[in-house]
Amino acid sequence: MRLGAGTLDDPESCAQLPDQVLATEVVSKARCADGTLDPDAWFPTSIAAEANRREAAEAIAICSACPVRGACLELALRHWAMGQHGIWGGLVPAERGALRRQRLASARTGAQPAFAAAGARITLAS
Ligand code: SF4
Repeated sequence: MRLGAGTLDDPESCAQLPDQVLATEVVSKARCADGTLDPDAWFPTSIAAEANRREAAEAIAICSACPVRGACLELALRHWAMGQHGIWGGLVPAERGALRRQRLASARTGAQPAFAAAGARITLAS
């Protein structure tokens, strides 16, 4: 499967792709794969999202330059037992939890998720 530029950074596009494609792209292009950052930096322990973001600022900075951010986030949302922990797609657990609840609610009502309706790219707050 040939993917266009920006596809793997676009949540709406990633939501249409099968796990195998997303996983292959993440494994081959993940910016975090070099392992230069302390593994603990990927697992903030604070409860509040803002404190979580401060605690994981170094990891989030790596995600902000990652070409497969959307694919990474999509995998986390689909595989929640694993995806609820740590930093995925540049988002902390509370932020992904909110996205996931929104997606589940949209699936129940048949409405389009807000981030898909807006055609939004993932926004990484600093
Ligand atoms: S978005 Fe972040 S956690 Fe996900 S693959 Fe890229 S660098 Fe790694």
